[in-house]
Amino acid sequence: MSSIIELGEDISYKYSFKGKRLIYWPQEENYIGNMEASVERYKSELTKLYQSANDDEDIHFIAMDSQMIQKAIDLTNQVIFEVTEKCNLSCTYCALGSTYKNVSVERCRNMDWQTAKSILDFYVQKWKNDRPKKFKKFCYIGFHGGEPLLNMKLIKRIISYIEKKEEIKELNFLYSMTTNGTLLHKHIEYLVEKNFILHVSMDGDREMNSYRVDKNGKEIYDDLYHNLKIIQSKYPQFFKENVEFLSVATNKNTNPGITSFFNKEFDKNSEIHLLSSTMVADYEEWESMRRKKDDTKSEKNDNKYLSDFLRLFSGNFYNHYRSLLDNPKTVNTLPTGTCIPFTHRVFITARKDIIACERIGFERKLGRVSDNGVELDLISIRDFYNNTLAKFKLHCERCFKKEACTVCFLTNEKYFDESFTCEDFYPVSHLKRCIKETVNFLRERAGKANNY
Ligand code: SF4
Ligand code: SF4
Repeated sequence: MSSIIELGEDISYKYSFKGKRLIYWPQEENYIGNMEASVERYKSELTKLYQSANDDEDIHFIAMDSQMIQKAIDLTNQVIFEVTEKCNLSCTYCALGSTYKNVSVERCRNMDWQTAKSILDFYVQKWKNDRPKKFKKFCYIGFHGGEPLLNMKLIKRIISYIEKKEEIKELNFLYSMTTNGTLLHKHIEYLVEKNFILHVSMDGDREMNSYRVDKNGKEIYDDLYHNLKIIQSKYPQFFKENVEFLSVATNKNTNPGITSFFNKEFDKNSEIHLLSSTMVADYEEWESMRRKKDDTKSEKNDNKYLSDFLRLFSGNFYNHYRSLLDNPKTVNTLPTGTCIPFTHRVFITARKDIIACERIGFERKLGRVSDNGVELDLISIRDFYNNTLAKFKLHCERCFKKEACTVCFLTNEKYFDESFTCEDFYPVSHLKRCIKETVNFLRERAGKANNY
């Protein structure tokens, strides 16, 4: 991949991708007059630019091996249980509803105690023995559904089991739940007592929230709003610190509308997600509910190119404080942004399947809980990942987003087709446009500032 990028004749800059430098490169006639004063510094920057062009490639793509997976399993500190498949609602846009082809079987199972216990016993051993001290402090237990509040019996049993385990007494357990909020009034005392973090799904006011309906098609807004207001007045501190909102962007709401609703009603913000676009079965239905792309764009008040530039091309963005300290010249990494499975968490379904996380398709099983306990075949997990990553590598090597890629191949079924192309591929033409737009934007702002 060429390092020094010619941005075009209409712009007085060049860019060094490896050196992450944008160099002012004036036309000959401007050079003498404008740059004379700092000509020494300019020369030195130019030298650095050319030196960086000869550097080795910063990113080396590697394959996954089973030790990496084992290490991730040993260090996992977040376990998420799908305690039930059942839900008391039938939201129109539900990823498990008729608009999508995610589900070929009726979702009617509860997780049984033996499955939960096998998982807990497996991880208690790890938490007790295998984790270096610095990772030992916190463990996160999440409850998903369906609607998890429909299986409170199992949730209480899991928590009670954890609390009684002597071997892990020194650990702090933090519990969280993603809920539709309609049954909160029945269980709120227990949830407050255990200091749960609640992620409540709500899309805004009555109209904005109207895809969220019960089994009879009745909108649930009034019940949900009522529940939330009661919690807010009865447990104000808990509400303030432990309740978070998740919203889906649809054609019935806008980002400013959602933000203003949650600010005004609850003094909070909401995390806004797009309607899922994978495994769509009924495109007409999906298209009718989807927020049109342009709506989302016009709502952004930041400059997209500037944020891309700062994140991807400025050399001043660090994913983690450790990369700031290490700042290695060459990074060995897997292609794409897909994590090594179980690095962040593990997800257990009510059907006893073990999945990398709750955000990906349930058919991508990596293991199972059986009568013999937890079954994970590291070799087949490794081969499954490497087969797809090897195909991605060909794209990623030519892509200018590879250092800050956020694509997880498990989140899009298209990536399992033989002839897929990465939807986020960032060619050199995008990079040039990004830099030009950023420079123009900053110069325009600087010009305006000078006029004040
Ligand atoms: S979405 Fe992909 S990258 Fe993110 S935690 Fe899940 S498996 Fe890992
Ligand atoms: S955006 Fe796509 S092609 Fe680019 S690095 Fe990420 S996965 Fe690879």
